[in-house]
Amino acid sequence: EVADVSELLLSHIRDVPDHPKPGVMFKDITPLLADPAAFAALTDTLAALSTRHGATKIVGLEARGFILGAPVAIRAGLGFIPVRKAGKLPGATLRQSYDLEYGSAEIEVHAEDLAAGDRVMVIDDVLATGGTAAASVDLIRRSGAQVAGVAVLMELGFLDGRQKLERALEGAPLEAL
Ligand code: AMP
Repeated sequence: EVADVSELLLSHIRDVPDHPKPGVMFKDITPLLADPAAFAALTDTLAALSTRHGATKIVGLEARGFILGAPVAIRAGLGFIPVRKAGKLPGATLRQSYDLEYGSAEIEVHAEDLAAGDRVMVIDDVLATGGTAAASVDLIRRSGAQVAGVAVLMELGFLDGRQKLERALEGAPLEAL
């Protein structure tokens, strides 16, 4: 059954070579979003995983993690918390910086959205280098909340993002559909 879902999902992802720059194979999920059966299957699968891992809140990573995480939160009966690029959230935030290939980036969450006692499932579309997801795990832990796990639609295996993220997860699960 899981294999069937994986095949359904994979058949709705478009590979776009050299986007947004030469040498990158971009994994475009817009065909999946446009197909109600595939989008529902993805939402149901991620919601079931979140419940199984004991999540009490869903975090979505800007921007495609918002599109996937919001319906997952509703389906699982949990609140949705956005983790955004720095400078977007209006309230008091916790901020986490992380290294990119060249330079660094920062993500933020509203401080009041996470606290001790929360168990957070992190949702995104693609795990590439793992930098963004690992930074979100660090950010969530600094809030006092626990990390239930990270769930992504796809991981790009050749980039070793799993290794980097598993170091940050310290035993919490990484699920890639
Ligand atoms: P990273 O921090 O390197 O794991 O990058 C993850 C973020 O970049 C995710 O939020 C993805 O949406 C996006 N991303 C990175 N590489 C790709 C790719 N080849 N295709 C689509 N999205 C990507």
